[in-house]
Amino acid sequence: MEMYKMMTPGPTMTAASVLQARSRNFVNPDVDTDFCEEYHTICRELADLLDTENEVYILGGEGILALEAACASLTEPGDRVLVIDNGVFGKGFADFVKLYGGEPVLYTTDYHRPVDIEGLGDYLAGDHHFKYATVVHCDTPSGVLNDIGAICPMLKEYGILTVTDAVASMFGEEIHVDDWGIDIICGGSQKALSAPPGLAFVSVSGDAMRAMRHRKTPVASFYCNLLLFQNYYEEKWFPYTMPVSDIYGFAEAVRLVREDTDRIRRHHRIAGAVRRAVKAAGLSLYLDGGDAATVTVINVPDGIKDTDIIRVMKEQYHILIAGSFDVLAGKVIRLGHMGNNANTDDVAQMMAALTKTLDQLGFHCQCDMGEIFLKEVSVVF
Ligand SMILES: *Cc1c(COP(=O)(O)O)cnc(C)c1O
Repeated sequence: MEMYKMMTPGPTMTAASVLQARSRNFVNPDVDTDFCEEYHTICRELADLLDTENEVYILGGEGILALEAACASLTEPGDRVLVIDNGVFGKGFADFVKLYGGEPVLYTTDYHRPVDIEGLGDYLAGDHHFKYATVVHCDTPSGVLNDIGAICPMLKEYGILTVTDAVASMFGEEIHVDDWGIDIICGGSQKALSAPPGLAFVSVSGDAMRAMRHRKTPVASFYCNLLLFQNYYEEKWFPYTMPVSDIYGFAEAVRLVREDTDRIRRHHRIAGAVRRAVKAAGLSLYLDGGDAATVTVINVPDGIKDTDIIRVMKEQYHILIAGSFDVLAGKVIRLGHMGNNANTDDVAQMMAALTKTLDQLGFHCQCDMGEIFLKEVSVVF
């Protein structure tokens, strides 16, 4: 199979050692208690990376499962839930809240910038009767990065539990779960962790666990019920057979992230250089500020189709980039520089190919973005 560079904002390219770990012979995860030890070790390593003492659980399903499981486990019929909406994933939480009988209350702000902290503070001063709130760290369709280090503590002051989707930011941006009072944080295997898609994980605070234990009604799901994991380690029991090969690959990806102590600085350095190259070329960024270090979102120039850019990039330059979806479909293209993709060589090749692709399609860049990227990325701040 001819392969391309997968420079999408997840899934990303995967290290050979991760793929090899997935092909290892496997044990029976239901019967062999060594597996439970291994799972527990990976969970503690994740907790360490997320700067938390909270329990971490790896779930057998895609990133979305973490979001739905958080809502399923916390929501009881009639609960008011604050849904902070300045992006597609932000708004999407309302659907999960509704599915489990809750009443989502949307706090909607401009999709072109992060949630304004003062504005949210004023809103909460007027209305704060919410069981929990949802917020997205990096809302990937636009690439906006919300300041969860300010938002979550503010919510906690009102006694509101916090659910944070950090699937697309985790390991490319700083996260301090305990300091920031994040009750449930959601992550996935295929973003900056750079394992293949297939696994989700959450950390769950004592407050969130208590809220689940004190429910008046049972959780209206089995697969999405986080409470079922609470005694897994003591009882050496999982609610379902764990996808053991996926977890072997995941464990290797976690090991690589732990070794890579420069990763957050590198993500920021590369993201900054990409943006300076994009602007130098005469292209414009979708956001007015607050770009995450894991993805860059560029407005499609007038007269060109996103699908043509993606097609030429793939067919002629063997580099896969992404369009976007929902309200952003057709309007932007997205360059992923998260996890394994956050390296100078691959990003430089992507930028050079994008320059040529746009040129072929009739948009003449004011510079070679590959060259400008390389110049910018070597600048020491
Ligand atoms: C990728 C992603 C998810 C998970 O979505 P999947 O479709 O399961 O990959 C959730 N939230 C955000 C912000 C994401 O970028």
